[in-house]
Amino acid sequence: MTATVTSPLAFAGTPAPDNLVLSPVKRSGLADQMKAGLDAPICLTWELTYACNLQCIHCLSSSGRRDPRELTTSEAEAVIDELQRMQVFYINIGGGEPTIRSDFWHLVNYATDHGVGVKFSTNGSRIDAAVARELAASDYVDVQISIDGADAATNDAVRGEGSFDVAQQAMKHLHDAGFSGFKISVVMTRHNIGQVDELEAMARRFNAELRLTRFRPSGRGADSWHELHPTDAQQRQLYRWLLDRPEVLTGDSFFHLSALGEPLPGLNLCGAGRVVCLIDPIGDVYACPFVLHDEFRAGSVRDNGGFQRVWQDSELFAELREPQSAGACASCGHFDACQGGCMAAKFFTGIPLDGPDPECVLGHGEPLVNSASAARPSPALDHSRPTPVTFLHQNPDDTTLRR
Ligand code: SF4
Ligand code: SF4
Repeated sequence: MTATVTSPLAFAGTPAPDNLVLSPVKRSGLADQMKAGLDAPICLTWELTYACNLQCIHCLSSSGRRDPRELTTSEAEAVIDELQRMQVFYINIGGGEPTIRSDFWHLVNYATDHGVGVKFSTNGSRIDAAVARELAASDYVDVQISIDGADAATNDAVRGEGSFDVAQQAMKHLHDAGFSGFKISVVMTRHNIGQVDELEAMARRFNAELRLTRFRPSGRGADSWHELHPTDAQQRQLYRWLLDRPEVLTGDSFFHLSALGEPLPGLNLCGAGRVVCLIDPIGDVYACPFVLHDEFRAGSVRDNGGFQRVWQDSELFAELREPQSAGACASCGHFDACQGGCMAAKFFTGIPLDGPDPECVLGHGEPLVNSASAARPSPALDHSRPTPVTFLHQNPDDTTLRR
């Protein structure tokens, strides 16, 4: 049974629950409501395509090649109609590189015309000056440019040669067009976590907002995990840095660090299947963007009853909305703050779901990662191209975003 919330955004105050700023009392009431699940997801990510002109080594969806079974334009429109009926007021569109789909701008316009706001994530390759002006003129579209370092050397080692310059160019176009508050999104790795001050300065320079997310061992990230995930000392530095900067957006990324003391702003619980879910390019619905695996597939928008039935009636989501066992973390005095960490991070490092987070700040996860590595589940899908790509700037075919 899901709790009724007429407008999932009414209490959030912002279009996406990146950083919920609430009193402790409201926060705990809201957290209980969220744990039981809501009538509609607050944070719905929709990966429109697995096609991508980059091949980032940590890509959570192992993107590269388009899946021939992708939802058609009319199927995607039908999903948007359904989201409108469910009062999902905001979706996060990603991929792959979503702007590669030839109907991307049409679908963005279709969504906003139907009262569904859009935030889309892009590597910036198709944000030229004209597109930036169109985006700046819309009240219902937000943009998130992904980079993975404050300089080309750090970023391009992860995202591919030339990708830093292209992302910077896109940021410049958005800034010049007067688009304030677009997001610069950075996955925190061992190699860029020391650059948070420079990243903050970059966001300030472009009149943008900084969004830091946690590196999870999903997709190709499972293979690059050991090389890229932050050290314990770096996690502690990041925690203190974030405590001083509640304006930096983090979503549910770092609640495992709240075991270090004062809780960080943001969503302090795993919202998978409760307030968060993902629709993938072929319409399959997963509990969250970081668990693309059959075990966390709840159904498909192509099934009878569509997305609404999956969200409200799937067995998997009902299970995730039940109180979860604290398992091995039960005796830890920090469980209320840390909640045992991220389900996806545990799953793809071979740790039981009721075990500690692989990056547990008390050090309980690491020995398990090392002993469990043989039993690590493989990601269910891999759309990687067979050979790494060199970045090529592609000109947009149809980038008209109707006002
Ligand atoms: S599994 Fe991890 S990434 Fe997914 S919703 Fe839960 S905490 Fe967030
Ligand atoms: S033992 Fe579990 S609850 Fe305690 S800090 Fe580690 S992951 Fe969090």
